[in-house]
Amino acid sequence: MARVEIENITKRYGHLEVVHGVSACIEDGEFVILVGPSGCGKSTLLRMIAGLEHISDGTISIDGEVVNDVAPKDRNIAMVFQNYALYPHMTVAQNMAFSLKLSGLGKDETRDKVGNAARILGLEKLLDRYPGQLSGGQRQRVAMGRAIVRDPEVFLFDEPLSNLDAKLRVQMRAEIKSLHQRLKTTTIYVTHDQVEAMTMADRIVVMRDGLIEQVGSPLDLYDEPANLFVAGFIGSPT
Ligand code: ADP
Ligand code: MG
Repeated sequence: MARVEIENITKRYGHLEVVHGVSACIEDGEFVILVGPSGCGKSTLLRMIAGLEHISDGTISIDGEVVNDVAPKDRNIAMVFQNYALYPHMTVAQNMAFSLKLSGLGKDETRDKVGNAARILGLEKLLDRYPGQLSGGQRQRVAMGRAIVRDPEVFLFDEPLSNLDAKLRVQMRAEIKSLHQRLKTTTIYVTHDQVEAMTMADRIVVMRDGLIEQVGSPLDLYDEPANLFVAGFIGSPT
């Protein structure tokens, strides 16, 4: 587990500034949802936390240690994307084992970790299948399995359910929450879906145009939205 602190994070692409000095603190074991309209900077922020994107200004710390210059693979962070491309020529087990390649684990340890992740996600019977032989929900579970095998301290999800149909989305929300309740891994989950935010989050961070508008529990935001934008976004009556 880990506490993630972002301080005055700014991101510029050339002359274009897309994140304007935002700060937030995600506590150990917390499930925080980052919401906001398309293009407001959610993915950019997540990618900076993961180390996949250079930070123009500001610092990101994990458990008090600044990680700005720490390589992605050394951050103990696992990220699940919207387009969770699995390797089509690898089995489920191989897909999951692949994310341990860089860790230098032996064969037995790798097998144990993959087996354990498969148990957690109910994938035991599918380990020898290829992605093409799986349903959308099963593929999403394998994508989560690839993240879990690395025992990350922090989980980042970037709109992981947006390619799934409505029914499956509801089911996967429950699965992700129950996974979080079991593993208690600090989680930052990006979505533009208000229902997802209101039903899954311990706290919600509302972004707009590269700025954080408000941070609070779903109830806080519903009862006391900071402004009309938040009220409109959360769907509160104010
Ligand atoms: P969100 O995930 O909230 O939809 P993004 O973080 O993907 O938003 O994008 C925020 C802004 O940064 C957008 O205006 C987008 O066009 C811009 N942007 C994202 N990536 C790049 C890039 N590699 N080069 C230039 N602009 C980018
Ligand atoms: Mg995005």
